[in-house]
Amino acid sequence: MSRTLLALTLFSALALAPTAEAAGLERLYVFDCGEVAAPDQSRWSPGVNVGKPIVNSDNCYLIRHERGLLLWDTGYPDALADQPNGATGPTGTSKRKSKLVDDLARIGVRPADIRFVAISHHHGDHVGNLDKFPAATFLMQAAEHAFAFEGKPTSFPATQPITRLNGDHDVFGDGSVTIISTPGHTIGHQSLALRLP
Ligand SMILES: [Zn+2]
Repeated sequence: MSRTLLALTLFSALALAPTAEAAGLERLYVFDCGEVAAPDQSRWSPGVNVGKPIVNSDNCYLIRHERGLLLWDTGYPDALADQPNGATGPTGTSKRKSKLVDDLARIGVRPADIRFVAISHHHGDHVGNLDKFPAATFLMQAAEHAFAFEGKPTSFPATQPITRLNGDHDVFGDGSVTIISTPGHTIGHQSLALRLP
């Protein structure tokens, strides 16, 4: 496996075999939350594929569990969908085809319906719409929260419910949706393991 593929895999939701006890997970939705066209993929694989372009996809995931909805990552900001030519920054040119709130509406979900929002890590391509979910509880590693927010301005209100995690976390208590601490890419990076029906 190339280093690039390995790195990208870290940001994906991992699907495991279901168990009898983990029956509460009902459905997984995958949303296109944007992409970035980068001129040099060695940004993510130092010394490998130097100068070769790459297009990285940027997905968000909605998990429907009998005890509520979990949104995993919020992608590039919805405002990017209003820029047909995208936006160019140090990583490359990023684009978004549709808005997350509109994609959620297409499956009958309002932002206020979402119980938990968890982010893999606090980089701009994963946290673009955190201000859209003031009623949801954010699930973040304590180290990532400190790195990202403490002493800094935020896009979401001060009243935002936030649960600071210290390691792995069974989101709904039945083993079907588990946040796993995977520090490295950032100090408090986390991954998600699902036991789908
Ligand atoms: Zn990142």
